[in-house]
Amino acid sequence: MEVLTPGAFDPLARLRDAAAARADAGLRRRLVARRPGSPLLDLASNDYLGLAGDPRLAEASARAARAWGTGATGSRLVTGTTALHEELEAELADFTCAASALVFSCGYLANLAAVTALAAALAGPDDGVLIVSDEGNHASLIDGCRLAKSRGARLRVTRHADLAAVEEALRCRDERAALVVTDAVFSVSGVLAPVAELHALARAHGAILLVDEAHSFGVLGAGGRGAGYDAGLAAAPDLVRTVTLSKSLSGQGGAVLGAAEVRQTLIDTGRGFIFDTGLAPPAAGAALAALGILRESPDLPGRARRNTTRLAGLAADLGLVATTPDAAVASVILGAPQLALQAQRICTEHGVSVGCFRPPSVPAGQACLRLTGRATLSEIDLAVASRALASVRDHSRIPEKTGGRAP
Ligand code: PMP
Repeated sequence: MEVLTPGAFDPLARLRDAAAARADAGLRRRLVARRPGSPLLDLASNDYLGLAGDPRLAEASARAARAWGTGATGSRLVTGTTALHEELEAELADFTCAASALVFSCGYLANLAAVTALAAALAGPDDGVLIVSDEGNHASLIDGCRLAKSRGARLRVTRHADLAAVEEALRCRDERAALVVTDAVFSVSGVLAPVAELHALARAHGAILLVDEAHSFGVLGAGGRGAGYDAGLAAAPDLVRTVTLSKSLSGQGGAVLGAAEVRQTLIDTGRGFIFDTGLAPPAAGAALAALGILRESPDLPGRARRNTTRLAGLAADLGLVATTPDAAVASVILGAPQLALQAQRICTEHGVSVGCFRPPSVPAGQACLRLTGRATLSEIDLAVASRALASVRDHSRIPEKTGGRAP
């Protein structure tokens, strides 16, 4: 190994030591390139509706590239807004019955910008703002909360799906303004948050509820209109929804759905909107095509949900500890990271690709396989999955059912 400055602190040696410690703890991560036409059965991706290989999306994307170029060429505020972006925003708002939509280059940035910009604007010049965030939220919401905290917001992280803790935090605050943030469907367990109850609490205490619909958009609600829509809250001015275009729509990008005031706040102050190059036009074109397919095929979301319930049922029948999925994600809890890695290897040997989630993506002791039930799975696919899970059961020390919270 090259020594940079003899006798001095070696920063790369520090990185190697840290990597070795992660490897010892079963936390080494590897990039495995996906090959076109892979023989593996895909139960790992977020392609919930099976649209990723759809030629209609590819064609729409190519048409957009020919018309507008491959990149947006600049920030949305400079040269990065095209007629396609405007059409996509109008269509997203119309489909979800939102007052308005604002498109971002990814869902991560949409969350980051929504939490930070809303917190800052709600706080006013000297009022303060409280953010109440579920401990199981996605990293993008967590990072948004941390950033907002570093800029003066007070952050209260509540236990997973603990309505009483949310109520107490809202009731006992000194700040006039508050923002409650939650995943709609938690990304690893696949369990739905109590969206209607959270909204009622937020409303009663003069707060805004921000719901990340990454795993519910295209999967829950009539025709896939999401969890907020399903709860009858699509028109609620104090509900902000964020979506990604990368899961059920099989593309790339994100959006914030909400009142016109929310949209303007993000355009004026959302740093992830202002300082980022706009969504690439081919991605906007593909998302529009996917939304068109979703409108034409309102049965797709239900098929994805039913297949996921079947997958979780297969795992539970085998004696594995599976979550009870509300959308298109289920997880099988193995406990230690090494067990989850071994289970993933067993699945691959049986021709099945599954996700493997370890800390910090899940709490310690909750490493798991993550399975997604695409709308297009066949009976044969489910039989293949069942054989792979049976082998996982045969080779794993199964953790006791604790009744604890899903990861
Ligand atoms: N929110 C949740 C709950 C997610 O799972 C993800 C993606 N893993 C995101 C936001 C970020 O979306 P994107 O991939 O479009 O950045």
